[in-house]
Amino acid sequence: MAEHSPYQHRSAAGESLDLPPGKVVCVGRNYAAHARELGNPIPDAPVLFMKPSTALVAFEAPWGLPAGLGPCEAEAELALLIRAPLSRRSTGAVLDAVAAAGVALDLTLRAVQSELKAKGHPWERAKAFDGACPVTPWVSLDQLPPMAELVFESHINGTLRQHGQVADMLFDPASLLTEISQLFTLLPGDVVLTGTPAGVGPLVPGDEIELKMDGRCWKTVVGG
Ligand code: ZN
Repeated sequence: MAEHSPYQHRSAAGESLDLPPGKVVCVGRNYAAHARELGNPIPDAPVLFMKPSTALVAFEAPWGLPAGLGPCEAEAELALLIRAPLSRRSTGAVLDAVAAAGVALDLTLRAVQSELKAKGHPWERAKAFDGACPVTPWVSLDQLPPMAELVFESHINGTLRQHGQVADMLFDPASLLTEISQLFTLLPGDVVLTGTPAGVGPLVPGDEIELKMDGRCWKTVVGG
């Protein structure tokens, strides 16, 4: 895996944000079509897992794939950057705690994950390794359409791979933040990944990835 410089949250304008990189709380199976493509049942509560802050890496900085651990799949997901503590909140103004949105890749060592699932083991080896969460610069919510209308896409080598929209989520961002905050206090600088739509697939070194949200486009090439 390529070495990477310490990650810092940055705005779409390139400014460093005054929020420390924190934990990444992730949601599994939040789109019905993706749950079906992996043969998983539709959950009645969000499936939650975490990546440590060391998983964060700037999407546009050089990053690579773990070697010798089988296929690494990219799950493109709408990501939310937390700016205010959120603990045991009931529904209401939970979105006030969100500073910005971006697009993240939930990198997943799929064969490792399948083996862990079969043994009933936790998923960290497959999803929480260094660099397992490339994330785009952050776009302030006041520069975006209302959360309910957000749409994002991933394109790999020029081909549309994933198209996600908040309207298709089983649990919308406010519901996710409410549910997550019952268990895990979210702190300024933490990140929430909202689950991936259908279309995930393996990456190989040299793949060119474009992530898009609301007319913005970020590009990178996967390293060796
Ligand atoms: Zn995911």
